[in-house]
Amino acid sequence: MNLSYQSTRGGESGLTASQAILKGLAEDGGLFMPNMIPKLDVTIEQLAGMTYQETAYEVMKLFLTDFTEEELKYCISHAYDSKFDTEEIAPLVKADGAYYLELFHGSTIAFKDMALSILPYFMTTAAKKNHVENEIVILTATSGDTGKAAMAGFADVPGTRIIVFYPKGGVSKVQELQMVTQKGDNTAVVAIHGNFDDAQTGVKKIFGDRAFGEKLAAKGFQLSSANSINIGRLVPQIVYYVYAYAKLVANGEIQNGDPINITVPTGNFGNILAAYFAKQIGIPVKTLICASNDNKVLYDFFQTGTYDKKREFILTTSPSMDILISSNLERLIYLSTGCDAAANRKLMEELGTSGAYTVNEDMKAVMKDFIGGYATEAENAAEIRKVYEDTGYVIDTHTGVASSVYRKYAAETGDTTPTVIASTASPYKFSHSVMEAISGDQSGKDEFVIVDELCAASGVPVPGAVEEIRHAEIRHRRECQAETMEATVAEILGL
Ligand SMILES: *Cc1c(COP(=O)(O)O)cnc(C)c1O
Repeated sequence: MNLSYQSTRGGESGLTASQAILKGLAEDGGLFMPNMIPKLDVTIEQLAGMTYQETAYEVMKLFLTDFTEEELKYCISHAYDSKFDTEEIAPLVKADGAYYLELFHGSTIAFKDMALSILPYFMTTAAKKNHVENEIVILTATSGDTGKAAMAGFADVPGTRIIVFYPKGGVSKVQELQMVTQKGDNTAVVAIHGNFDDAQTGVKKIFGDRAFGEKLAAKGFQLSSANSINIGRLVPQIVYYVYAYAKLVANGEIQNGDPINITVPTGNFGNILAAYFAKQIGIPVKTLICASNDNKVLYDFFQTGTYDKKREFILTTSPSMDILISSNLERLIYLSTGCDAAANRKLMEELGTSGAYTVNEDMKAVMKDFIGGYATEAENAAEIRKVYEDTGYVIDTHTGVASSVYRKYAAETGDTTPTVIASTASPYKFSHSVMEAISGDQSGKDEFVIVDELCAASGVPVPGAVEEIRHAEIRHRRECQAETMEATVAEILGL
């Protein structure tokens, strides 16, 4: 059987990888999924001797089957180059009883770079393969990190434009400055008066508006997505879990075949789903620990089987996880129904109309590898402080949530399986909250004074991504309401 892509809601099937990447989201509102899960065709011993780029090729070729070897290697070598500040690309740091997989060494210092440095290469390669003449307009809702990482990838890429919507007041100071100072004539940034869910729902609505799509096409534009609903983001995220496992074996931390646990600070469920895919293609993973902040809709879901978004949206110090509608969970739901698109569609419609749905026992059994946990604001801060005091290692507020959840899980269960914690952002991106956790109240202090204090406390040099925005000019001041997102897109594109 050849691998192809189909919508989780049944409307489309038989797409090649490049077609699925170009579309981003299926026309029926579903997400694209491969029709089968491939298996690694190299051994862990072989992987243990590979670079990040070589590992990436072995994983990506399994899913992106209509890309030639030459195309894939071109994309990989241009994405994972000196934009990353370490040749390892994703280093694994052992600290305080766990392995922190540092996914923040790319140009915007959050894990989104792992996939968004390669997505523009996938997209332009896919456009060429499919003889796309239109200009591709990337529409992106961001909880803070995707927007910057996507713009860094797409800025001044010929044949593309990118428009980013972020929740005003819902991101950190550094995140906001990174976005509003973005250069590139094809970039636009809009602050919306609403939260991330409003932004994401608005973007999905624009994708679903046929009339608007026709208007765009008449002007030579077509939409795509840089959000983690795009399969072109999910696939690159599988790579670092495979790489981490192989590194643990190579370094003698575990024996080949030993199971590991993976803990992921979760928002839209993209990163942890990639870890699940890593397991499916052949990496020995025991438990996937899904860590939430106070917006613990996923924790409740894994406890009860009911996904219920009807609750207060809480702004936390881990803003990239402030999400109540975790889009990529739909892919797991779809798998758990045995790929029954009609059953999945029914649940997603329930979520849309009544704000909740409940899965049955069979579906729960398929999802048994996942367990949920959450950390309160106080627990998160205490964890950041504890790891710092024990080891001198400074973690960011998202990684803090994961670390805290892992520690509670290990204490409650006695599970001593070696555990990889996805470390999703540099602490510098959340300097204020991180320094507050380590040394108390920072209110009234200038963000860059705090940055310099964090440097003194951690001994880690201030990353270029932060130095760059110290004095950068603000280039984007546009704002809109959640209801006027489509009109704003039309205005930006001059429709
Ligand atoms: C996006 C993000 C997350 C959440 O990842 P998902 O794939 O959306 O679950 C966690 N931490 C940071 C720093 C992020 O940017």
